Amino acid sequence: MTRLDSILLKAEQSGDLSVDEIEFLLSLSEQADLDRLFAAAYAVKERFVGRRAWFRGIVEFSNICSKDCYYCGIRRSNSKTSRFIIPEEDIIRSAVWAWEAEYGSAVLQSGERSDPQFVDMVERIIKEIKKRTNGELGLTLSLGEQSEETYRRWFEAGAHRYLLRIETSNRELYSQLHPADHNFDERLACLDRLRRAGFQVGTGVMIGLPMQTLRHLAEDVLFFRRQDVDMIGMGPYIYHNETPLARYREEWEIPTGKLLNLGLKMIAVTRLVLRDVNIASTTALQALQDNGRELGLKAGANIIMPNTTDTQYRESYQLYENKPCLDENASMCRGCLQRRIEAIGETIGFGEWGDSKHFAQRQKSKQEMNHEAENSADNNGSTRNLATFSGKSPDGGR
Ligand code: SAH
Repeated sequence: MTRLDSILLKAEQSGDLSVDEIEFLLSLSEQADLDRLFAAAYAVKERFVGRRAWFRGIVEFSNICSKDCYYCGIRRSNSKTSRFIIPEEDIIRSAVWAWEAEYGSAVLQSGERSDPQFVDMVERIIKEIKKRTNGELGLTLSLGEQSEETYRRWFEAGAHRYLLRIETSNRELYSQLHPADHNFDERLACLDRLRRAGFQVGTGVMIGLPMQTLRHLAEDVLFFRRQDVDMIGMGPYIYHNETPLARYREEWEIPTGKLLNLGLKMIAVTRLVLRDVNIASTTALQALQDNGRELGLKAGANIIMPNTTDTQYRESYQLYENKPCLDENASMCRGCLQRRIEAIGETIGFGEWGDSKHFAQRQKSKQEMNHEAENSADNNGSTRNLATFSGKSPDGGR
């Protein structure tokens, strides 16, 4: 048995891979080996989440940002981008369009702001979207770091999933990618806040950053597992010339084909290790190759986020260069995507929220534990067991 055979066998049986084993999988480069890795991940995907893709129509509603991340094209110091915020009614309309197109869910994403006007506006928008779609459209937010109070308000308004990428789980690399006022611990604390507020929580990283090693990426996968997240959104890092990281381009830029493969390997390994979570096949994959997102699905992803932002605004929401679909309107994207996905033999969960199975599983375990605790409390006439059980992570032993 080769090392690859034994790791894939272990992955199939338990998903419990070590950092060395994950790093080994990420280092594969022969096409035959990659095909085996992707096939193994696809089998795990079929077993745990099915051959089904869900759509989240993404509305990128503003590029006004208070942060200054060294990699991002909409960082506050980039004076070459013109700033916009889509009028509330148009944001709502784009989300309602997603519901009418039976997307099941929408994602609201923007640059980061936490001023009261912004927090109030997002709350109003969430409520209005829920109202106009009879509560049927699932809503994911991707609006950065916020206070616990803000997360709670947005959850209560009706959003139920939140994506906050850790960007890299390595503290040192994190500090090389962000100015001193961006704090790794604060970002981590936000993931806890989101969980406490009731959200299904997603995180992720950028893949192929300057100074990033395969070891870092392998540790990222174990970070996802430790955090017990419900969803993963990660994608290749793509250089943007008007950002400080552009100076590393010559030394660190990974050739397109290799970067695409690295992104796909990360999806595959994450599927093997985390099994029942939702994993997005992100637009950055499509930026590298036209069929990048379908390849992502074949490597284990199960979520696609078609852009439903008004085309007139897309030009200014350039996190990275050559972002695809700048001039295709949302309905063109829908037809083209449906054909592409059906062509690889998957069905699309039209009109369904497509929630994370992992989240459902955790809720179920929590209920069972509480139920058991109640029973045992009844049996021995004490309620103390309830407290013992309810604070415990139901999935900690995964
Ligand atoms: N401000 C919000 C969301 C907007 S940015 C937040 O902080 O969560 C969404 C994601 O785009 C970021 O989390 C980052 O991972 C990704 N991104 C930014 N610049 C990028 C680049 N140059 N290449 C690839 N992805 C990038």
